[in-house]
Amino acid sequence: MEEKKKMSEKIRVMFSEEQVNEKIKELGAQISADMKGEPVKIICILKGASFFACELAKRITVPVFIDFMSVSSYGDGTESSGIVRIIKDLDDSIIGENVLIVEDIIDSGRTLSYLVENLKSRGAKTVRLCTLMSKPSRRVVDVPVDYIGYEIPDEFVVGYGLDYAQRYRNLPYVGVVEFE
Ligand code: 5GP
Repeated sequence: MEEKKKMSEKIRVMFSEEQVNEKIKELGAQISADMKGEPVKIICILKGASFFACELAKRITVPVFIDFMSVSSYGDGTESSGIVRIIKDLDDSIIGENVLIVEDIIDSGRTLSYLVENLKSRGAKTVRLCTLMSKPSRRVVDVPVDYIGYEIPDEFVVGYGLDYAQRYRNLPYVGVVEFE
């Protein structure tokens, strides 16, 4: 009788822990310089960006405040549906504040394009956007991004907060799931 072959998963490293840490240091220095001594309110987009946002906050030298938002824009699969639903809103007002939206990855741009407009309409003084990764070849909606860690090809990445079916968020590096 033919034996059923079990698929196993392997992670191919795209950016090592050291590389990501170095990149976050650079982003933190750049953001600190651009803020010119003014405080910044980080808006961390849950869940994926939480690992990145915490590390980034440690590398910013102006006063940092932090709030969290959770949105859902995906249907069942790996395609953004275009309809963004707020699952958890900000705790506090952002009127007159310098907001820095921190995201893990920008794919189609639908989620961020909605969020930038939404946060601008709440009376923030400035709204900037920082993402650890971006897939420019996948963009459907144009979103101006102020800080990008890495531009990557069209591959599904995990680690550093990013999941595959809720797994792998805790990997200290960024990798691609390969099936064998
Ligand atoms: P967008 O609205 O730009 O299409 O979708 C952005 C969201 O899709 C990200 O916040 C992330 O949750 C998810 N996403 C997009 N690409 C990837 C990927 O390569 N890996 C993982 N784990 N999530 C992704």
